[in-house]
Amino acid sequence: MNHDDLKNWSKRAADWTHDYHSTLRDRPVRAQTKPGEIAAKLPAAPPETAEPMEEIFADFERIVPDGMTHWQHPRFFAYFPANASPASMLAEQLANSIASNCMIWQASPAATEIEQVTTDWLRQALGLPDSFTGTIHDSATVATLSAVITMRDRASGWRSVDEGLTGQRLRIYASAQTHSSVDKAVRLAGIGQRNLVKIDTDADYRMDPDKLDAAIRDDIFNDRTPAGVVLCTGGTSIGAFDPIAECIEVARAHRLYTHVDAAWAGSAMICPEFRTLWQGAEGADSIVFNPHKWLGAQFDCSVQFLADPAPQIRSLGLRPDYLQTLGEEEIVNFNEWTVPLGRRFRALKLWFVLRAYGLDNLRTRIRNHVAWIEELTEAFRATPGFEITTEPRLALFSFRYAPDGGDADALTERLLEKVNADGRIYLTQTRHQGKFVIRVTAGSFDCTRDDVMAVHAVVTELAATL
Ligand code: PLP
Repeated sequence: MNHDDLKNWSKRAADWTHDYHSTLRDRPVRAQTKPGEIAAKLPAAPPETAEPMEEIFADFERIVPDGMTHWQHPRFFAYFPANASPASMLAEQLANSIASNCMIWQASPAATEIEQVTTDWLRQALGLPDSFTGTIHDSATVATLSAVITMRDRASGWRSVDEGLTGQRLRIYASAQTHSSVDKAVRLAGIGQRNLVKIDTDADYRMDPDKLDAAIRDDIFNDRTPAGVVLCTGGTSIGAFDPIAECIEVARAHRLYTHVDAAWAGSAMICPEFRTLWQGAEGADSIVFNPHKWLGAQFDCSVQFLADPAPQIRSLGLRPDYLQTLGEEEIVNFNEWTVPLGRRFRALKLWFVLRAYGLDNLRTRIRNHVAWIEELTEAFRATPGFEITTEPRLALFSFRYAPDGGDADALTERLLEKVNADGRIYLTQTRHQGKFVIRVTAGSFDCTRDDVMAVHAVVTELAATL
């Protein structure tokens, strides 16, 4: 295949893309395959000689779409969304065509500078002060790891950079509602999971700032070294929000570094009315949010804002001889802000999305999702046998099926499997206060009110068959 062939096949791919998206509603949302079924359709050995693209494309059409869970399906309500707008898809095609490694400024000046400008547009859109500078990671996990490594090195007086951790018992604080990426970060940073202190939450699943303060004081008293606090703005399980201002005040009093994980809920902060949910975020050292979840800039695109990039660069940045940019002093090499050296051109899709829809349209989408989820919650509340287990927080709520005299955990689990095998909608579960509950979150770029209300119709129809 050469570049002339690519031109023709790109047109074919564009037609396929259009057909795929215009018929998505007819497909089951969750892949209906069994483990191993897809692999069994592929030859075990690699092809020795070139195969015609016609055959490769035909196999793609035959094997892949039915083997995928359709994240862009308008009735995808599982996990958190990874929504993708058409403008983002176009930008990704162009970035793929250029196929650069955007590791340092010289290797990709436009990528670096568009990243600087578009993350600053996002900063303004979120209402954050201009003291923050943005960078794009592949994932919130890597952004949180970067922040936790910075906490570690700063708390060790930067000795850990050269010597590793030598005897100091560092402590990181977070609530039990934070994402498992925080647990992973403390493991990978060599701090150790038992040194991640999970602070109790109040009745609304918010970190209790007094308990945070007490835990830090207790650690200092016991010769441990507090290093940083990770705060939760929209936890994955049920959408918990820590009281950011109060917790940051406690952290600051102990000179601790703070990182806010707003991976999902951060996108909603483009709507001024939701900003009370992270009031005080402007005082954080680091904030991460994923435009790839709810802002239409498809996976992968995770933006980290830093009040001062210097400590993170001191932890992660290296500039060996072979990466020097001769004659350019004042440049930003974004690989020094993150873990991998190589970087994709992720800023292009942010540029396209923000321009093609404008903040106005993006806000309307988020407000609609929030309003429709509230309406759906009320529909379940009014239906006998269903219990709302957590109230809507932005566009996420949870419920369970608890008819009189039934085993609610077992029934809810069976109901969920039935719903997902049915395929019209896709939902996933969590465990909340020991109960098996179903989460519902709206965020698909193309979803409508009817799609969201279909959750009630499908779930009640299938519950009646249990
Ligand atoms: N933080 C929160 C609140 C999340 O919901 C998620 C993923 O759903 C993550 C972090 C991890 O995100 P990523 O997949 O970008 O690493």
